[in-house]
Amino acid sequence: MYVSMKEMLWHACANKYAVMAINCTDMEQARAICYAAAAECAPVIIDISPRQMKAHATPEVMVPMIRAIAEPLDVPVALNLDHGGEYKDIVRCIKAGFSSVMVDASSYDFEENVRRVSQIVALAHAHGVSVEAELGHVGQAAAGDGRSADMYTNVEQAREFVERTGCDCLAVAIGTAHGAYPDDFVPHLDFDRLAELKEALKMPLVLHGGSGAGEENIRRVVELGINKINVCTDLFKHQRKAMHDKLNEQPSIDYMDIQMHGEQAATEYIRAYMRMIGSSNRYQFDFTGEDFD
Ligand SMILES: [Zn+2]
Repeated sequence: MYVSMKEMLWHACANKYAVMAINCTDMEQARAICYAAAAECAPVIIDISPRQMKAHATPEVMVPMIRAIAEPLDVPVALNLDHGGEYKDIVRCIKAGFSSVMVDASSYDFEENVRRVSQIVALAHAHGVSVEAELGHVGQAAAGDGRSADMYTNVEQAREFVERTGCDCLAVAIGTAHGAYPDDFVPHLDFDRLAELKEALKMPLVLHGGSGAGEENIRRVVELGINKINVCTDLFKHQRKAMHDKLNEQPSIDYMDIQMHGEQAATEYIRAYMRMIGSSNRYQFDFTGEDFD
């Protein structure tokens, strides 16, 4: 099934688990993501960022390919623009057939963030496309971001933000940061703030910068109400290492065989992660996509 993020994230919210949102730049990764989801009976989200889109994962090529892989499956697969910034990029993705977009205006002030997100919500919802927004700011691990509460999401502001924008899910800043943390640093997360945000908003919440956050932290944020976890760095590192090791072991390996080896390694990594965050076996019998109170 090729669907928007909306119903799957409300189902996750009602049943207290999280859905993986995985960055993808080619067919092997798209296949790994979709087939891992099918094997685990799990919902999944494919993320493509503007940087990946500009490199080679163009919307016009990626959308038909991903739809062709996802549509025959029994599990829901959404395709989301990750960190959409420029209006023209976001509109291009909606036109190309993305089922969801993120508007990241988190580096602007509150009013400008509201304005930018509201504008896209009006357009996206008219096309059945769901919208993720971010309040507070999840920065870069390499820059030491995430260690100061200055950028964390404010609970009262979040309530007003969601009411005014009508966004479908909200990325919150509680202490994680994007990319790999230096020297095996494990971030300290503000769990109390997350619990307060969930209590105030009662809607799907998103964690960015999950890579390197540690399994214990990930399990805890899922218990406290995170319903979408973005995974990029950890998976790409795992897949690259598997391919690198295989090439060392078998330097004359056929090109297609090394591609398939990378796809297999990614599939296994994703399946294990899906089990950890509780999204496995959610789409066998009981999907209704409604009711959260
Ligand atoms: Zn992110």
